[in-house]
Amino acid sequence: MDPATSAFARTLASKCRCHALATDSAAELLSSNPISEDARAESSLLSCELAAGHDSDHLALLATAHGGDQWWWLRWDGQPSKVTEVIQIDPCDAELTQGRYADECFLPHGHPGPHDFELPQRD
Ligand SMILES: [Zn+2]
Ligand SMILES: [Zn+2]
Repeated sequence: MDPATSAFARTLASKCRCHALATDSAAELLSSNPISEDARAESSLLSCELAAGHDSDHLALLATAHGGDQWWWLRWDGQPSKVTEVIQIDPCDAELTQGRYADECFLPHGHPGPHDFELPQRD
């Protein structure tokens, strides 16, 4: 592939989410990883929220705890070895101000690729 074509492909890829599915459900992960008594699962099915084509491991928001102050993520490598890890990462502090409203980035701090507000909304 010539450089111009691959740059174009990267631009396209950066405009949608990865959506790789985790093999474990949030309920299973929360029962095997006691995070906090008030941890609330964000959704039952976990799919990667990073931009498509990202480097590094997949990340999905597993649960919030401590009244929403603590964000717990599932990180997995998508390889046959299925290495998964439940980790706490604060959300990214990027903001996009649009008039009176500010869009916050709901991806983990230090995430690769574009911010949440640059990607299509979740389904
Ligand atoms: Zn991913
Ligand atoms: Zn961000």
